[in-house]
Amino acid sequence: MDMKGFDGKHLWHPYAPAVKGPPVNMAVKSHGSVVELASGVRLIDGISSWWCAAYGHRPESVVQAVRAQAEKLPHIMFAGFTHDPAAELGERLLRLLPEGLEHLFYADSGSIAVECALKMALQYQRGCGRPKRTRMAALRGGYHGDTIGAMSVSDPGGMHAVFSGVLPEQFFAPKPSCRFGEAWREEDFAPMEELLRKHRDGIAGVIAEPVFQGANGMWFYHPQYLRELRRLCDELEMPLIFDEIATGFGRTGKTWAGEYAQVVPDIMCVGKALTAGVMTLGCVAASGKIAEKVGTFLHGPTFMANPLACAAGAAAAVLYGSRDWLKEVRRIEAGLRAGLEEYRALPQVRDVRVLGAVGVLEMERIPDPGAVQRVVLEEGVWLRPYDRYIYAMPPFVVTDGELGKIVGAMGKLAAMA
Ligand code: PMP
Repeated sequence: MDMKGFDGKHLWHPYAPAVKGPPVNMAVKSHGSVVELASGVRLIDGISSWWCAAYGHRPESVVQAVRAQAEKLPHIMFAGFTHDPAAELGERLLRLLPEGLEHLFYADSGSIAVECALKMALQYQRGCGRPKRTRMAALRGGYHGDTIGAMSVSDPGGMHAVFSGVLPEQFFAPKPSCRFGEAWREEDFAPMEELLRKHRDGIAGVIAEPVFQGANGMWFYHPQYLRELRRLCDELEMPLIFDEIATGFGRTGKTWAGEYAQVVPDIMCVGKALTAGVMTLGCVAASGKIAEKVGTFLHGPTFMANPLACAAGAAAAVLYGSRDWLKEVRRIEAGLRAGLEEYRALPQVRDVRVLGAVGVLEMERIPDPGAVQRVVLEEGVWLRPYDRYIYAMPPFVVTDGELGKIVGAMGKLAAMA
């Protein structure tokens, strides 16, 4: 059977049309930083398979844990049952999570974790006797997922703009303009302060990607913003939700990006690297105060706390603790900084920014998709620029040589744009 031909005719790909979709590469195997194609071509994965394969592809201990679990109990409903992998993952997560987040709700993916966090904020306000607090406040430039609730709190002018007018209406503060590493400017928080005070009786909670806004702008902002947010959310009794789905597990140089601000949210979403990129799983961690007021939480999907995913998560947590990954992230950060800085002089490059294992070239124009696919195959580096951003988020196991190739491919793409 011609698998690729079948795919082209029948399989829908992310952010693509079903008919006459963009070219796709047939992946057959992966290991470490490398994805192997059916053609025999080996690609260095510059973006960790959409940022989830943080410790490299196909980590042996995680694959082994899934295999062993599959032999015993691949799935059982989580209502009325529990199992070792759920408890083991929970116990290991609690050791990693900021103190105070002690109640864990397993969700099927990152987007669903965000949905659950939003629902928790709503139920929390009802539990507090404030049923009129039904809307969320969020940041422009944010991204929280592709389901209806998650889209509603993502940048309204961003990738989901096509749905404007049909999503639940939320409140948005401007994207923080004070960069990470700059001197803090108090006026940066003023619009959010005004918004929350003005609409305090209608706002259930506030959601933000701490420090690093990913898929809607690849932007690093000042941690002081989060400290101000914490202060105000406390005062106005609004749960503060951190979406650490992309930032968690070391990506920005700390285990959680919220650590840069030393702020603990009331509710935190994790996903992506949670299972080392092996299975889909998200988790929402909530404080005791939230859990108490939420009471019976009205969410319970069929595959909640799937034992295979939880086993992957538990093994991934062991893997996270088994090595000084933050040291690797610092090494990658230094490599990205040194390499990408050289491209600042290119007229097509508007900005260069790096934090942790994230390197971004903000371009004047959107790179041509045909040119991207050509560079990918010529350089043997998997990159997937979007909008005006050519970026890298390599697996932490990337070697210096591989990182050099990633940076080189980004430069080649930038020069062509
Ligand atoms: N929140 C953030 C910050 C994300 O980066 C993503 C995924 N890119 C999501 C939520 C959604 O996660 P998922 O794709 O697993 O639904």
